[in-house]
Amino acid sequence: MSDPILGPSSPLAAPIYQSSVYTLPDLDAIDRIYNGQESGFIYARDHHPNAKLLADELAKLEGATWAVIAGSGMAALTATALSLANHGDRILASDKLYGRTTQLLGQELKRFGVRTDFLNISDLSAVTAALEQPAKLLIVETISNPLLRVADIPALVEICRARRCLLLVDNTFATPTLVKPLDLGADLVMESLTKMIAGHSDVTLGAVCGRNDLGQRISQVRSIWGLSSSPFECWLAARGLATLTLRMHAACDNAAALADWLATQPSVQRIVYPGRADHPEHALVKRLLGGRFGNMLCFELAGGREAVNRFMQTAKGIPFSPSLGDVFTTCSHPVSTSHRYADSAERARQGITDGLIRLSVGAEPLPRIQEEMTRGLHASLAERE
Ligand code: PLP
Repeated sequence: MSDPILGPSSPLAAPIYQSSVYTLPDLDAIDRIYNGQESGFIYARDHHPNAKLLADELAKLEGATWAVIAGSGMAALTATALSLANHGDRILASDKLYGRTTQLLGQELKRFGVRTDFLNISDLSAVTAALEQPAKLLIVETISNPLLRVADIPALVEICRARRCLLLVDNTFATPTLVKPLDLGADLVMESLTKMIAGHSDVTLGAVCGRNDLGQRISQVRSIWGLSSSPFECWLAARGLATLTLRMHAACDNAAALADWLATQPSVQRIVYPGRADHPEHALVKRLLGGRFGNMLCFELAGGREAVNRFMQTAKGIPFSPSLGDVFTTCSHPVSTSHRYADSAERARQGITDGLIRLSVGAEPLPRIQEEMTRGLHASLAERE
């Protein structure tokens, strides 16, 4: 039977199903959907077609059997943690996580009687020792924010499996283009879709994916706590996902070239890039990330905060915007943004200094980035008038 509006045509691009609720022919139909006998949609907070389309594509890319889409990366993490941890449970987490993740665990979940112990996950014997006491979950980032330390996922999988602790990998900085943590044995992978995956700084979304039987419970918790996504944002993210590999490859190649170029610049004191031989996990990175090293890099300006201000005021083509993963290059300042609420001792411990700039390298032509960087670096050296 042909569609009353479209006739025999159908749109090549997926439609945006901008409806908060669905109508059903009768009670039997709603029963079949609720009982899982037939797929369908009832209420958008619970599920909607654009979330399904996005989840299906993402699950394929991650090698997952399910993906749960949530209203942000933090919503995906929150839904996962609330699904798995009960009052009295313990979570282990890397001591170099995104600031809000650290707050979610150390401050918010603590209010519900869930304890999180933070540790250096590069020290595998410390992880083994920490797991002598039971823990529900170990949370790590493939590439950490901002100093790009890399998690030895296969080794962590082995340690966690032996002690019945689930391993959740936040893969936001690497994306499934560089590594698929589920293929390495991780139990859950989480992505902030806001970043590289959507890719154009116009979406706030997150996802958690897996191959186990946790998807339904996480999806239920996501709905009950109201952590759901909007159809339009899912539509945008699905469109971004279609070009992720192209954008990531171009951006990673730009970042590798830029890191080597920055090393020759007199105003730059330090460069942090997993593709450089002086990166602490360079050998691991070569093994883990399939020959590319990510689009994120950090560099430190000799003149501290004032030099950073002069760089930002001059290199206007590399906007200061506290996020990452845009198709164009942007910069951020961890001391003022992601690690604003970490105390100075903690920042010093991690090596997050006033002169540190984090670059999210984009896919535009490299000479355009270098031209803008040259202007900013030159200005960073100038004395203030
Ligand atoms: N994980 C990492 C590594 C991040 O950098 C971010 C945000 O910057 C998040 C999680 C949270 O994602 P969202 O901003 O989509 O909530």
